[in-house]
Amino acid sequence: MRFFDTHTHLDYLSESLNLSISTLVENAQKYQVEKILVVSVFAKNFEKVTACANEKPKNIVYGLGLHPLYIQQHQLSDLDLLENRLSQKVPLCTAIGEIGLEKAVIEVSSPELWKKQCEFLEAQLALAKKFNLPVNLHSRKSHDQLFVFLKKAQLSQTGVIHGFAGSYEQAKRFVDLGYKIGVGGTITYQRANKTREAVRKLPLESLLLETDSPDMPVFGFQGQPNRPERLIMSFNSLCELRNEQPQIIAETIWQNSERLFSHT
Ligand SMILES: [Zn+2]
Repeated sequence: MRFFDTHTHLDYLSESLNLSISTLVENAQKYQVEKILVVSVFAKNFEKVTACANEKPKNIVYGLGLHPLYIQQHQLSDLDLLENRLSQKVPLCTAIGEIGLEKAVIEVSSPELWKKQCEFLEAQLALAKKFNLPVNLHSRKSHDQLFVFLKKAQLSQTGVIHGFAGSYEQAKRFVDLGYKIGVGGTITYQRANKTREAVRKLPLESLLLETDSPDMPVFGFQGQPNRPERLIMSFNSLCELRNEQPQIIAETIWQNSERLFSHT
């Protein structure tokens, strides 16, 4: 079996654990996590995210984008910077992310900042279209609004709703539009009934696995930075929920991930 962690912030993990990117990758490989996508959150870490991939180009690819949670810090000039970097068409840059909408945090949900979130999302979806790249999407309490933007954008490469939490109906709508559902630590919690039910019923071809390291801890490791190797725990929970054999689940999800986020 082999696994692809399709959403991480390895630059932050490396800092918080004081471990090199190479060590983090070696630890992940002990658990068959062979590939890792690192995404940025603001313009200030574009360079670090790029450096992560350059240090381990066989194992790491990266995405560049402006995260909605940091909307207050983003400048219009950051969009130019993003476009500039994307136009260099670096083979290891295989996604635009982390981008999306955040409605669970009051500080960034005022009418003014919500409007700014929507404008930055729209601009970055336009860049995804221009550069023919898939998107790695953040969505909290905003699935309906995000759906409207994605439907309008009509991206050819689509993308993933990362760290999905929500109902089967919400997930299915994204899947019908051609998007994948990122399965993370949420399903390791028995209480996450809605999300567990959703990933149980969705087509296997629509699922990806991820950790969101160092965020979204898996059950039993609350309060600790999450790590790519703990993807196995979400995989085990997924296997308990699904009828297919673990090997089939692993290989199908590997193929789904490779098709979306691997460079050739
Ligand atoms: Zn993230």
